[in-house]
Amino acid sequence: MPAIASRLAGLRRRIPGDVTLVAVSKFHPAEAIMEAYGAGQRVFGESRALEMADKASRLPADIEWHFIGHLQTNKVRNVVPHASLIHSIDSMHLLKAVNAEAAKAGRRVRVLMQLHVALEETKYGFSPEELAEALGPGIFEEYPAIEFAGVMAMASNVDDEERIRRDFAEARACFEALRDGVMKDNPSFRTLSMGMSHDWPIAVAEGANMIRIGTDIFGEREY
Ligand SMILES: *Cc1c(COP(=O)(O)O)cnc(C)c1O
Repeated sequence: MPAIASRLAGLRRRIPGDVTLVAVSKFHPAEAIMEAYGAGQRVFGESRALEMADKASRLPADIEWHFIGHLQTNKVRNVVPHASLIHSIDSMHLLKAVNAEAAKAGRRVRVLMQLHVALEETKYGFSPEELAEALGPGIFEEYPAIEFAGVMAMASNVDDEERIRRDFAEARACFEALRDGVMKDNPSFRTLSMGMSHDWPIAVAEGANMIRIGTDIFGEREY
């Protein structure tokens, strides 16, 4: 069996059936994606707008493209036509731009709000407090072209399993508070995207129902 297909099969045996696997294909060529596609994979994650647009235009139409990287507002128009889910809404400014572009295209775009719970300093993502404040009751009228589908988070990039577990638990608590609060009448709000190659089993144990795996499927990336 080719390497990618056998790695995928091995992963699928370990991942619970109710957890969606996003195969993170960023920086990997179309041939690698097609190998995974041939093994039945349909959901792929990309982190650069133009790379995703290019791949989406050349590869089979039944692929579900997920955008997982930091999205600049000037690239929103390249992503909206192709993305079935944007994982990385990291500011209200970006949310507004996606809403405007989706409205222009006459469609609704599914998004996850990106939480920042990790140790590392980054300017991307909301703290749980910021997110709770940003998603007030007026949110649905204010962003009519947005379908709020859940939350995405990354854990600290450390070896300390307890720290990783704590980060994921914090993200889950925030997700559940929103789901049972402002989103209680929105059945679309049900996705908790967390876990990558090195930490996905901890993420799943802490409640993730979508994981994003690149290296363990496609091998190391060459940037
Ligand atoms: C690249 C990336 C991944 C995949 O990481 P791997 O360690 O290769 O599995 C997952 N999530 C995000 C947001 C990424 O940018």
